[in-house]
Amino acid sequence: MVVSIHEFQVTTEGFTDVVDISEQVGNAIDKSAVADGMALVSVAGSTASITSIEYEPGVVRDLKNAIERLAPSNIKYEHDARWGDGNGFAHVRAAMLGSSFSVPVHRGRAVLGTWQQIVLLDFDNKRRRRSIYVQIIGE
Ligand code: ZN
Repeated sequence: MVVSIHEFQVTTEGFTDVVDISEQVGNAIDKSAVADGMALVSVAGSTASITSIEYEPGVVRDLKNAIERLAPSNIKYEHDARWGDGNGFAHVRAAMLGSSFSVPVHRGRAVLGTWQQIVLLDFDNKRRRRSIYVQIIGE
């Protein structure tokens, strides 16, 4: 049984920037040399999420629009009154989508659909440099 953790950084534009991180996750699985097991992909921070989507501009736009309807950026948030950093919408969005994504590893690769990519969503109201951790467990 192997347990290994790999870190990489991603620079984002914030404001629900959606970044394809599938290649970096694949590289982490390669480095772990795990053939069969699972990978947990996690972002450190309370204003970003990890999920999977077909990474093409139309559906990425559709997801951004759906998120805007769920937690609009133009309404009042208690966090902004208490903290003053103006990113209450970003915290709520991140909590709803979650900070991690797990995927099976089989024959040394993440088991994903052909049109399924792993993405980082950065909801914060400014550019950010994010640390992503990939923990791989298996053999
Ligand atoms: Zn905040």
